Amino acid sequence: MSLKLYNTRTRSVEPFEPVAPPVASLYVCGLTPSAETHIGHARTYLLFDVLRRYLTHLGYDVRYVQNVTDIDDRSIAAATETGQDWREIVARYYASFKNSMEKLGVLPLDPACEPRATEYVPQIIEMIGELIERGFAYASKDGVYYRVSRFPDYGKLSNRNLSELEAGARIEVDEFKEDPLDFALWKFAKPGEPSWASPWGAGRPGWHIECSAMARELLGDQFDLHGGGADLIFPHHENEIAQSEPVIHKHPMANFWVHGGILLSESRKMSKSLGNFEPLYELLDRHDPQAIRLLFLQTGYSKVMNFREEAIGAADATLQTLRDNFRMLADKATEPKSLEEARRSFSEFNSAVEAALDDDMNTASALREVLSFASSARNFEAVRSGPALRILEYWLTILGLEPSEAWLKKRVPKLPSDFVECLKKQLDGAVTLANAASAADAIQIVIDERKKARSERRWNESDRLRDALAHCGVSLEDTREGTTWTVAG
Ligand SMILES: [Zn+2]
Repeated sequence: MSLKLYNTRTRSVEPFEPVAPPVASLYVCGLTPSAETHIGHARTYLLFDVLRRYLTHLGYDVRYVQNVTDIDDRSIAAATETGQDWREIVARYYASFKNSMEKLGVLPLDPACEPRATEYVPQIIEMIGELIERGFAYASKDGVYYRVSRFPDYGKLSNRNLSELEAGARIEVDEFKEDPLDFALWKFAKPGEPSWASPWGAGRPGWHIECSAMARELLGDQFDLHGGGADLIFPHHENEIAQSEPVIHKHPMANFWVHGGILLSESRKMSKSLGNFEPLYELLDRHDPQAIRLLFLQTGYSKVMNFREEAIGAADATLQTLRDNFRMLADKATEPKSLEEARRSFSEFNSAVEAALDDDMNTASALREVLSFASSARNFEAVRSGPALRILEYWLTILGLEPSEAWLKKRVPKLPSDFVECLKKQLDGAVTLANAASAADAIQIVIDERKKARSERRWNESDRLRDALAHCGVSLEDTREGTTWTVAG
């Protein structure tokens, strides 16, 4: 088996074969930090994070480029609205994005592969110049435009043809464009706007040309995979192809085009007008980021996903069971010799996870294999536990659910907030809890009373005290070392 991926360009599932192995070159459209990151962004970047990790597992030397659209109409508009500098706005939202990605366990970017559009203005200007020279672009009164009619393949990626697009295009009165489908490569600056000098006039690049120029500069004319959310297929990715291919004189600019599915939020399309863009950091404050990650793994990457916050609860419960199983396995495990040994010992499990991920990154199926392995491995005898723990840790890491130190700690469920009240009511004055400084103190007082009752063979009283605690959610266990208590989970 080898990795197969759905290629939007050919509309089929194809084997992933890089142009220059062992290098696998990937370009994924990054953030436009003009507003807070939302859960839709999380879906896209979690997809490419797992892909990156899996390609590394397959032995590829992954070159992963993810840009920052640090100059854009929206960040300029936000600056005008708030009176802040556009650079401050971009820096703030981008820092928030990076922070959320870190919480979700998304691998950090190599700084050399994290291009900012404003640092590539010379390359952008050069590309626009080449397009003008070859008749693919023209300077107009308010900027430079791409001449869509000059590129016959326009619409191929998104499976639309030019005449359909023409018919569907808004009949906008735009005296500066030759055709409504033409799009801006360079926008001349209005007073007060940030600008760079160009042969056509001071201004700033359009969004689409930025990606074409940065991808070419960092990955070369042709590369292996271009990715992004499905909402970018048209027009952004279509435009990138139209800009790049006439200049590189080759087709295709990227062999694979991979897109993460659209995300609905509580059954609604996410949009500014509906106001359902909850900042991602708020969601991450309320939930365990690994539970959110697990939920996305369970859903898979390509389908439309209806994100419901309620579903995080079930994902969290699955995560807790996984952690419990992991801890029980770790408790017994002896040090394995190597990952290779672990792979050999559990070759069937290893192959099953690989087969799932090879199958167009079927993370749902891969996760199922991992969960079921974890639940059976907890019962292994010590000698098999070491390699089992090693292989489990390995695959959890590929899925981005890295086990942390916290996974090894036993979960201590919290006492209900009304616990002491409940206990007082149950005891009905039989034991005074007035001196208890905390709920744990109160439990200890009852345990001591029960011990006394037992030593005096007052069995009914001892049972009554145990039942009172049980009624309020605390169960006792009598061991050789004494009585211990746990909170019912
Ligand atoms: Zn892009």
